[in-house]
Amino acid sequence: MKSASNDRPPRGGATPNWDANDSAQLYGINSWGAGYFNVSDAGEVQVNVDFEGNPVAVSLMEIVRGMHDRGLHMPAVLRIRNLLDHRVQVLNTAFAKAIEDGGYRNCYRGVYPIKVNQQCHVVEEIADYGRQYNHGFEAGSKAELIIAMSQLRDSEGLIICNGYKDAEFIELGLYAVQMGIPCFFVVETLSELPIIIERSRALGIEPLIGVRIKTTVAVDGYWSQDSGDRSIFGLSTASLMRLVDELRQAEMLHCLRLLHCHLGSQIPNIRNVRSGVLEACRFYAGLVEEGAPMGHIDLGGGLAVDYEGASTNSTHSMNYRLDEYCVNIVESICETLDPLGIDHPVIISESGRATVAYSSMLLFNILNVSNSMPVTTPGELPEDCVEMLKNLDGIQARLSVQNIQECYNDAVFYRDELRELFHHGQATLRERALAENIFLEVVHRITSMLPELNRVSPELQHLQEQLSDIYYGNFSLFQSLPDIWAIDQLFPIMPIHRLDEKPGRSAILADLTCDCDGKIDRFSTPDGERNVLQLHELKQDEEYYLGVFLVGAYQETLGDLHNLFGDTNVVNVAINPDGTFEFAREFHGDSIADVLSYVEYEPKQLQENFRLVAEKAVRSGKISVAQRSRIVQAFRESLHGYTYFENH
Ligand SMILES: *Cc1c(COP(=O)(O)O)cnc(C)c1O
Repeated sequence: MKSASNDRPPRGGATPNWDANDSAQLYGINSWGAGYFNVSDAGEVQVNVDFEGNPVAVSLMEIVRGMHDRGLHMPAVLRIRNLLDHRVQVLNTAFAKAIEDGGYRNCYRGVYPIKVNQQCHVVEEIADYGRQYNHGFEAGSKAELIIAMSQLRDSEGLIICNGYKDAEFIELGLYAVQMGIPCFFVVETLSELPIIIERSRALGIEPLIGVRIKTTVAVDGYWSQDSGDRSIFGLSTASLMRLVDELRQAEMLHCLRLLHCHLGSQIPNIRNVRSGVLEACRFYAGLVEEGAPMGHIDLGGGLAVDYEGASTNSTHSMNYRLDEYCVNIVESICETLDPLGIDHPVIISESGRATVAYSSMLLFNILNVSNSMPVTTPGELPEDCVEMLKNLDGIQARLSVQNIQECYNDAVFYRDELRELFHHGQATLRERALAENIFLEVVHRITSMLPELNRVSPELQHLQEQLSDIYYGNFSLFQSLPDIWAIDQLFPIMPIHRLDEKPGRSAILADLTCDCDGKIDRFSTPDGERNVLQLHELKQDEEYYLGVFLVGAYQETLGDLHNLFGDTNVVNVAINPDGTFEFAREFHGDSIADVLSYVEYEPKQLQENFRLVAEKAVRSGKISVAQRSRIVQAFRESLHGYTYFENH
């Protein structure tokens, strides 16, 4: 393993004919970065914050140096508070503008769906900053309702309760209503209704009721199943009618105040949004006709993030901008309700991903690189070696641009034949090693000749990927980027420094878990998806840092303890108008003792067990008392250390 020293993170050194703009182009940062991220002339990724027209930029490497000085080591999640605030701001101002421009006669009330990132300081920040916009919360469980009720600072902000609700959940929500918080129960199944009716009668508190409908719009992207007849959420039209009848019978139809529709997350196509809203408005109008007062239309989540920066309707992108999204919703509602003379409802959206994705990034260092270069250049072959090895070696002399494919086929054939001989004991281990080395030589020469060819067969095209380096990163995919594993999510990934140097290596990334799924080999680039990422060669005695961007949504609590890699360090940074920044909060990640206790080990007991093992070794004369003391001390330090790779 190439060991990097513990020197402070470095400053760069440029390559001729390559500059920061070339890197920006290569990694597409100006597209997916949405103005929040760019590459500085010095070749470092910087984060941009706007203070009422005064732009301020801070280099991520500056922040990494600050973390290093505070003993916060890689991997780490970095959250930029200003970006979170800005997302809440743009969401609210875009709706306000669409409402004003469209002559819409009601307001927008955003709610943040807590499940998207439940971390206390994320929720607190949204509550604090969102207050000026009456931004509320969406809760999908009792735990999230408890968060919402204790965080909401403002009685105009809404709480929307989705998910299955038992009597306890409903009582809590009713108390919120009693205290003046507009807390809606969105009915997902008919079985909830009797509990709501019974509890509200028993407590003498009138509930605010919403209904979740199933729309039939088919949505593009990964979450296409969340909508349509087969959706597991929401009421069928027949059930909706029963709900209306039951409410009327209970003399509570006046409590039905909200229509809820969630088409799915990450909707890449604006046409789906429009169709969904139009259909939801029809339901809304139908319920008004039934005599429900209504007054609120909640369009759920789905506002996408352009992880690829491609502006298309592919799964990880989006073919619309935020202002278009808002205008589409406002227009669609007016279009449907105006001819019917129905008052405009309060527009609610539960945008989670689009609110929190930008503000967090995962930073990690590279520990080691393995490449497929031949170990040594084979010199003369031994006289008495097997014939097959001589055949393989003979390819070297005749390889040319004209016979590339033929030579490749031969090389594969001879290598496989030699492996076969080895299996039968007819070639030695050294002969096999020689054969594999020569094969690599040939293949490397072939790939270097490919640019001279007019037409490259898919097989040879593939070679380049197979020969790419493996960069081992100090992180766990399962803990920090679970969606890459679970749903093939693409996130922008790039080095955060040395961007004035040309990245000369093609690589895939592997994490610290010894799991074959712990790798990243799909990357989005401005030229489409690729299986390799361009990276810089490691320098001796210098750390190399990568960033995975737009990871604020869904990654932090979906992560698991695969191989017992725990929570990473987290820092929350606030950037000031004068360009300085503060570590507003810092959290040390799990220690090994922490993760072991999650799986029911008792760290004190482990320590004691180990002490007994060491004591026995002393008694049997294997170690001295002084050695025992050192060993027990090392054990204790490891137990209380970080679960990731530490080189200090
Ligand atoms: C997950 C979820 C959301 C958040 O969706 P995003 O696409 O992240 O904005 C909103 N509402 C409901 C009901 C959800 O299940």
